Amino acid sequence: MVCVPPFPCNFAAGRDNFRGMEKRLLLDLSYEELAVELAALGEPRYRASQVWNWVWKKFATDFSAMTNLPAALRAELARRFSLDPFTVLAREGDEEGTEKVLLGLSDGTSIEAVLIREENRRTVCISTQVGCPVGCPFCATGQMGFVRNLSAGEIAGQVLYFARLLHAQKEQVTNVVVMGMGEPFLNYEATLKAMHILNDPRGFNLGARRMTVSTIGIVPGILRFAQEGRQYNLAISLHAPDDELRAKLVPLGERWPISEIMAAVDAYILATGRRVTFEYVLLRGVNDHLRHARALAFLLRGKLVHVNLIPFNPASGLPFSPPDEGQIELFRRELLAHGMDVTVRRSRGIKIQAGCGQLRSRFGQDFQAVTRAE
Ligand code: SF4
Repeated sequence: MVCVPPFPCNFAAGRDNFRGMEKRLLLDLSYEELAVELAALGEPRYRASQVWNWVWKKFATDFSAMTNLPAALRAELARRFSLDPFTVLAREGDEEGTEKVLLGLSDGTSIEAVLIREENRRTVCISTQVGCPVGCPFCATGQMGFVRNLSAGEIAGQVLYFARLLHAQKEQVTNVVVMGMGEPFLNYEATLKAMHILNDPRGFNLGARRMTVSTIGIVPGILRFAQEGRQYNLAISLHAPDDELRAKLVPLGERWPISEIMAAVDAYILATGRRVTFEYVLLRGVNDHLRHARALAFLLRGKLVHVNLIPFNPASGLPFSPPDEGQIELFRRELLAHGMDVTVRRSRGIKIQAGCGQLRSRFGQDFQAVTRAE
C-alpha cells in the first residue's frame, strides 16, 4: 500500500468557502453554462473559450495559472469557483501500470477511479455514484449500499485527475469506461453531461467511440441513451441468461426482465448502428454451466453484440470463486460454437483490488489506518 500525494494538490478547494458560501465546482459547467457565467460577470464572449481551454486542454489546477486572463477576473473566478472536487486520499499502483486512486469528496465521502495502461491505451474507469443501489452479491461496491449520486464535475473530474497525471508524463487518456462504483443510468443526467463535457471538441475532445457506459440494463436509460445522437458505446452487465438467476445476481435488475432489456438493446442498435458488449462475470457453480452458455447464445443470436466473459475476481468476504481455467475455456468454446463473438477479459489491477467488482476496498480501510497512524 502506497500513500502518495504527488499531484498539484489544491484538491481540497471544493470545500473552500467564500463569504460563508461554498464555492461552486467549475467542472460542473458545460461550455455554454460557463459562457453564461462569464457574460454575467461582464466578460466578452471569447473568455469562455480561454477558460475552457485552460481547464480541459491545459489542465490548469489553479486560476492563477490562467495568464491570459485579467488578474481581476482570475481573482473573481477563484472566489466563486473551485477547480477540483477531490482531496487525494491515497494512491496505489501495480507493476502492470494500473493505478487506483481514492478520492475524497467535499462531504466526507470517497470514490475510487482507476487508470489501466495496456499497450497504447490509457483507459480510465470512473465512478458515477458513491456506493451503488443495485446490490450485486458478487461485487464489493454492491455491499456498501447507495450513498449519493456524483455531480457531472465529480464524474468528469476523475478523468481530469488522470489526464493531469498523464500529461506530466507526456501521455494522454485514450479511453474512458463508466464501469466503476454505481449504476450510471440511475444518475443519467450527470453521467451524460460529464461525457458530453469530455467529448466537447473545444476542450478535452475525447471521441465518443472511446467512451463506454456499462449498465445493468436500466431500460429507460438504454432507450434514452439510444436517442442521444452520439456514438458512445453501450455495455450491458447481464451475468445471467434467465430472469430467475439474474434476480439473484443483479437484485435491482429484477425490475426489468431480460426480454425488455433485449428489446431496448435492439432499439439502441437500430438507432446507432453500434455493436453492444454483453458482460458476463463467471462465477463457479452459479452461472458457468454449459447450459448457461447455450442459453446466453440463444438470447443473443443474430444480434450485433460481443460477449465479454469476466472470471470473478476473488474479493475478501464475498462467497464466490471463479471457474477453473478448463471450465472458462469450455464456456467460451460453447459460445463460439453458437456463432458468438466472445472474449475472455482478465481484469487488470487484481492485486490492488482495482478489478471489476472490487471497488470497495481494503484500500479505503487501509487508508483510514494510514491517516490515523500519521
Ligand atoms: S456490479 Fe456494478 S451494478 Fe452491481 S453492485 Fe457492483 S457497481 Fe453496482
